[in-house]
Parts: sequence; C-alpha cells; structure tokens
Amino acid sequence: MGSTASTGNGTWRNWGGTVRVRPARETAPASVDELAAAVRRAAEDGMPVKAVGTGHSFTSIAATDGLLIRPHLLTGIRHVDRAAGTVTVEAGTPLKRLNLALAREGLSLTNMGDIMEQTVSGATSTGTHGTGRDSASLAAQIRGLELVTADGSVLTCSAKENPDVFAAARIGLGALGVVTAITFSVEPLFLLTAREEPMPFDRVCADFDQLYAENEHFEFYWFPHTGNTNTKRNNRSAGPERPVPRFKGWFEDEFLSNGVFHAVNLVGRAVPASVPAIARISSRALSARTYTDIPYKVFTSPRRVRFVEMEYAVPREALVETLRELKAMVDRSPLRVGFPVEVRTAPADDITLSTASGRDSAYIAVHMFKGTPYQGYFTAAERIFTAHEGRPHWGKIHTRDAEHLSRMYPRFGEFTALRDRLDPERRFRNDYLRRVLGS
Ligand SMILES: Cc1cc2nc3c(=O)[nH]c(=O)nc-3n(C[C@H](O)[C@H](O)[C@H](O)COP(=O)(O)OP(=O)(O)OC[C@H]3O[C@@H](n4cnc5c(N)ncnc54)[C@H](O)[C@@H]3O)c2cc1C
Repeated sequence: MGSTASTGNGTWRNWGGTVRVRPARETAPASVDELAAAVRRAAEDGMPVKAVGTGHSFTSIAATDGLLIRPHLLTGIRHVDRAAGTVTVEAGTPLKRLNLALAREGLSLTNMGDIMEQTVSGATSTGTHGTGRDSASLAAQIRGLELVTADGSVLTCSAKENPDVFAAARIGLGALGVVTAITFSVEPLFLLTAREEPMPFDRVCADFDQLYAENEHFEFYWFPHTGNTNTKRNNRSAGPERPVPRFKGWFEDEFLSNGVFHAVNLVGRAVPASVPAIARISSRALSARTYTDIPYKVFTSPRRVRFVEMEYAVPREALVETLRELKAMVDRSPLRVGFPVEVRTAPADDITLSTASGRDSAYIAVHMFKGTPYQGYFTAAERIFTAHEGRPHWGKIHTRDAEHLSRMYPRFGEFTALRDRLDPERRFRNDYLRRVLGS
C-alpha cells in the first residue's frame, strides 16, 4: 500500500527519499490484540517500537532500527454514529479510503490537507493540516482515540475520558503509544466552490487580512523569482455541483501540475540558471477557474512530482512580514528555487503540541525538487521562520531541538510529563524524538 516500499533487503524508505532504515523486525498486525502482543514481545526483547503510516513524513520521525509496525491490515471503518456525528476507523486506514467511504454514506470531514495518501494515524500524529479560517487540522477533528501503550495495554481517551491523554495524543508524534483507532467528527456531505485565480504577490500581501477573513479556506502559492501567485478560495455552496470537466481536470491537474511540472523541474535541476525563466512561465500556466464539488475533491489533488519540504507555522499576524523577508532573501541570494511556496492558515486549537496550539497560525511551506540541493535554501528560510517564533511541522524537514521547542510551546512540559508516565522506558524512542523531545 501507499508510496513507501521495502526494497527487498528489508529496508524501509520514506516518500521524499530522505530516510532509509533497516528495522530489526517487521509486523503487520490484523487486530488490536495482535498489535498489543507484538509490543509486549518487543519489550521483552528490549527492542524499540515504531508504527508507520505511508512514509509521507520528510523527517525521520517514523524511522526505527527495532520493531516496525506496518498499518495495512489494520484498516476500515469500525462504526458510523450518525446521531453523534462521528466515524470510528482503524488506525491504518488511508485517508483516501476514509473520504470515499464517508462520501458513500453522505458524510464528510470538515477540512483536510492537500493529499489523501496518508493513513489516518500517520497524518494526525504529525499535525497534518489544510487551510481554514474556522476549521483546523485533521487532529483537531478527532473526538476519541484508542492506543496501545508501552506495557501492551489498551487506553482510550476523549475530552471526557482521560482528557490529559486526549489533549496530547491527538498529535502524539508516535511517542505516547501505537494508535489503533480514531473517532473523527463528521458532518453531512456538503459542497465547496473553489475559485482559483492568479494574483500579484504584492496584492495578496496587501489584501491578505481581507482575503483570509472573507473566505472559509484561503491559500496561495508564490512562485520564487517572480511577483506572481496562484490563489485558491474555497467556500461552502448551495450548489449545483459543477466539477472541473474531465479533460480540463486531466490537462491542468495531471498534465500541467504533474507531467509538465516534473519535466520542467528536471530541466531546472540540470540547468539551475534556467529556473527563474521557468518560474515565470510556470506561474502563468494555470488560468483562473471556478468549480463546485464535494470536499475531498476540492481540498486534495494528486502530487506525483517528488520533492522535499520544510513548513513552519508563524503567528498569523506575522505572516506578511515573514513572507516578504523570505522573498527578499530569495531575491538577493544566488538560490534557484523551482518549486512554489505554499501559504495556508489555521485557527488556534487546544492540542498540546499542535503547531497551532493556542494561537491563530499561518503556515509557510518551502519545497525543492527531489535530488536538488535544498540545505542552503531551507537553512536561510528556517532562520527567518524561527525569528518570527515559528513552529516546525513535525513531519517536515527542520533542525529544531527540545531546548528550542520547549520555548515555542507553552505546554511542552505537559507532553513530556505524560510521555514519562506512559512510556518511562522509551519503548517508542527513535533519534528524531530524542532530538525534539529530549532524552
Ligand atoms: C506529497 C505530500 C503532501 C503532503 N501534504 C500535506 C498537507 O497538505 N498538510 C500537512 O500538514 N502535511 C502534509 N504532508 C505531510 C504528511 O501529511 C505528514 O508527514 C504525515 O504525518 C504523513 O502521514 P503518513 O501516514 O505517511 O505517516 P508516516 O510519515 O509514516 O508517520 C508519521 C508519524 O506517525 C506515526 N504513526 C503512524 N502510525 C501510527 C500509529 N498507528 N500510532 C502511533 N503513531 C503512528 C509514526 O510513528 C510517525 O511518528 C505531505 C507530505 C507529502 C509527501
């Protein structure tokens, strides 16, 4: 399943090609009992344990040299509760399968990210988000969780039951236990009208507060080396449904956004000097369009061109200044950046280590085509983001450590205290967690 692969010699690698590890043991449990038994056996053998999703994280957050728990036999819908407006799914269920099943039931999540390849547990564990004025990340749509903890016991939590665990485990970084089921809040299927439109960078910056306030979901892509952006506004609509016509959809979403985009990135990688000219053409390739469809068809699209990514959440009011600094940095540097910068928002939420924990946030994501040196760009961008009290996406490249992050998250100590209680022997340890959480 998914986009990760065993290469035949027992190696696990992630989607972005930034992580490659060889776990000592692998298992694909088909039930919670099997999973709990595997965790207990690993404990007896003194082995670290890591559950993975589809490897779409760019950081080594999912890496282990111990027991690797694969998700593909722990999938499917457990229960739909229409009266409560919830759906309970097995933790390894891919978001795609969840969205399609919900649509068949006439239901939908409220908000989602750009793609739906990830598993529900993998996506929520790192705080995967889309863009929203009032609606937040996938994890913020969780109503209940079931997890197997380090001693092999099953723990359930919600706002009412074990609320301290619920506060942290919705974005648990794989550090608190293995999630086995998630209950999401759902609502009756609705329609969104998407308006995609090119707009000058200076105008988006000048009008950002208004664009944000007037739209339920506003986002834009800025093309480095140009003053151009593509904006996207999604708002609920009474219909009628007006999907992108099949050929136009294929031409723009597959041919231009994936096929041609891949080819021009190959050219840019081979001849970096061509990147600014390519960026000027790419930024004008997509014309304005309006369509109305069910949520997952509006929020998500295929991303076949492989890249590496860093994304930071800054306080929303700091967005425009941060972005202008990023543009000035690119303009005066010798960097050649062929991938657009994505900008999204989220309202404050109440999850301990959510990038939007306790503050209205704006996300800025920088990308580089896979195989292109990215360190210089990301280092310079990260310096700007951290100067604005940015919090890095847990699943995307960053260099922050526990000392720094404990200053960025007022509730950091709450998370580590819970980890001390639930996993005192650090059964779910790996090098990434040691860096970002300490010990
Ligand atoms: C093409 C692409 C598009 C993306 N788009 C977005 C986007 O729009 N918005 C956004 O915010 N992010 C986005 N991301 C990042 C991605 O959503 C996150 O990195 C996400 O965590 C990946 O999910 P996964 O299923 O691949 O999990 P993995 O990367 O395999 O694992 C992530 C973490 O989840 C943990 N985990 C997995 N399963 C369990 C479990 N059962 N119990 C406990 N812990 C578990 C792992 O241990 C690890 O810590 C994108 C990434 C790519 C490559």
